[in-house]
Amino acid sequence: MGNTILAILEQREGKLKKSAFEAASVAAKLAKDLNLNVQAVAIGSEISNLDEVAKYGVGNITHFKNDSLANYSSSAYTAVVTEFAREISADYLVFANTSFGKDLAPRVSVKLDAGCLFDCVKLEVSSGEVIATRPIYAGKALMDAKLKSAVKVFTIRPNVFKPVEESVTVEISTKDVDAPDTSTKVVEFKKAEGKLDVAEADIIVSGGRGLKTPEDFKMVEELADALGAAVGASRAVVDAGWRPHREQVGQTGKTVSPSLYVACGISGAIQHLAGMSSSKYIVAINKDKDAPIFGVADYGIAGDVFEILPELTEAIKSLN
Ligand code: FAD
Repeated sequence: MGNTILAILEQREGKLKKSAFEAASVAAKLAKDLNLNVQAVAIGSEISNLDEVAKYGVGNITHFKNDSLANYSSSAYTAVVTEFAREISADYLVFANTSFGKDLAPRVSVKLDAGCLFDCVKLEVSSGEVIATRPIYAGKALMDAKLKSAVKVFTIRPNVFKPVEESVTVEISTKDVDAPDTSTKVVEFKKAEGKLDVAEADIIVSGGRGLKTPEDFKMVEELADALGAAVGASRAVVDAGWRPHREQVGQTGKTVSPSLYVACGISGAIQHLAGMSSSKYIVAINKDKDAPIFGVADYGIAGDVFEILPELTEAIKSLN
């Protein structure tokens, strides 16, 4: 048994992602509550903002470096994190529940013979043990769980744990990785130019089949622009080819937790709710006042999106 908790930091194109700071902040808080040391590890080529992690309570950072590791590689990243966790005898590992964390955490857990709890929305220490709360049954219920394994792995839902500022002194050690096994690797990231990613956005305006045609989605885009929001979509409209899959919210799309989620012409099927019910405020616009989306909404507008969306957009614009 060691006495260390390790945050695994995700970078993309040489910059740590927002979710990396969330993982670091959660690890720092757990370390304090459990009286453990905290460290962070990042893998990649150059990473420009590693020192910013120290703002969130983690000063001891190890950067594993190799040009061929600039993009994510399941095989190489698994080997590096596993070896490092063994070397420092980490008891706890914290990943963000992003595509990166969802791929890497189970691989590392198997290698470390660790228990793994995914998509946690709350982590609390009680009597020296970490109690993790996570949604189950597609978000219908929450369960509390704890791990009995020696090494414990948690992935945290992005946007749920706001990073808490607590500056510490930073010390970054860089270690070169010799001949990493990049037999599986991400070759290229295709970014939607200028578009916000739903998984990271603080405000999301999503549309569903109630929009009637792909062209009418313009109303959703205009409201999103006025709010500085990302555009999301239900699976029905993604399957119909109106919107790209990267915008899909739900069980088979992305899980989101923005401050504000505006659902336009979306019925609120359980699989959609699974992806967005942990949003802070939910506004629903639906012409069917009995639509299930109103069951999770904080504010509901029972009406026609074709009338409401243009008015709402104008009203928001007039405030800017
Ligand atoms: P609908 O259910 O057709 O709802 C359209 C809504 O628009 C209705 O409530 C209607 O009242 C309203 N409406 C119509 N006209 C207007 C108007 N003029 N003004 C206002 N409101 C109007 N779905 C997801 O979204 N994400 C997922 O990840 C996902 N994963 C799935 C996984 C599995 C295994 C399965 C089986 C299903 C999954 N689904 C998912 C599909 C899900 O069950 C629903 O079919 C889908 O969410 C419905 O999309 P929708 O709300 O856009 O369409």
